[in-house]
Amino acid sequence: MECTSCKRQITPKEKMVKFPCPECGEDIIRCEKCRVLANNYKCPKCSFEGP
Ligand SMILES: [Zn+2]
Ligand SMILES: [Zn+2]
Repeated sequence: MECTSCKRQITPKEKMVKFPCPECGEDIIRCEKCRVLANNYKCPKCSFEGP
């Protein structure tokens, strides 16, 4: 799987968060780095953007 924010491949041992898009319920995946930097994510399905 890949990070929704930076499109980087995430290895299974890496810390990441997965949560459903508030708009459409699509899985949003963020790597630890993007979470720490508070990068915005954009849903690939409905283009919802959030912190
Ligand atoms: Zn990332
Ligand atoms: Zn969405």
